[in-house]
Amino acid sequence: MIIKLYDIGEGISVSGALDASTFKRPEDSDFSFLSPIDYELKIEKAGNSVWIHGPLRAALSLVCARCLEPFTFSVASVLDIELLPRTAAPGAPEVELKPEELDTYYFEGEEIDIGPYIFEEIVLNIPIKALCSESCKGICPVCGANLNIADCACEKAGSTILTEKLKAFLKDR
Ligand SMILES: [Zn+2]
Ligand SMILES: [Zn+2]
Repeated sequence: MIIKLYDIGEGISVSGALDASTFKRPEDSDFSFLSPIDYELKIEKAGNSVWIHGPLRAALSLVCARCLEPFTFSVASVLDIELLPRTAAPGAPEVELKPEELDTYYFEGEEIDIGPYIFEEIVLNIPIKALCSESCKGICPVCGANLNIADCACEKAGSTILTEKLKAFLKDR
């Protein structure tokens, strides 16, 4: 999704569906995209910088933090970034970024590829501990059965191997 600076003019609206499968997911990620990322963006110039903003939406498959089953999750977010032209002074040392500058992005030349920004915004909004449902019962700590599907016969309250060991340990003291 390449935007040419020349085309922005007084501001443009771009919308469509971005194929997320062409982007590299973070290492160890246990999510996958079930849909392209829908975007509806406004792109405007403000002085030298370019402002890109608008809603994003995608359907993902996530793994429930409690029962470890995959489930469909819809991520919605708003992209709101400003890009500054990188004016590389020849021979100047790389300026170290201060924390408050980390949200500033840069572009070079006359084109901006907005795809990576769209992808990153969605990935940043994936919850770390997502649940398939607020009432997910999780898995049995003893036998590992998915308790959403069926109850198991295990004695649960305070009788996992770990708590038994802890009890024995505390008794010995
Ligand atoms: Zn679950
Ligand atoms: Zn069990």
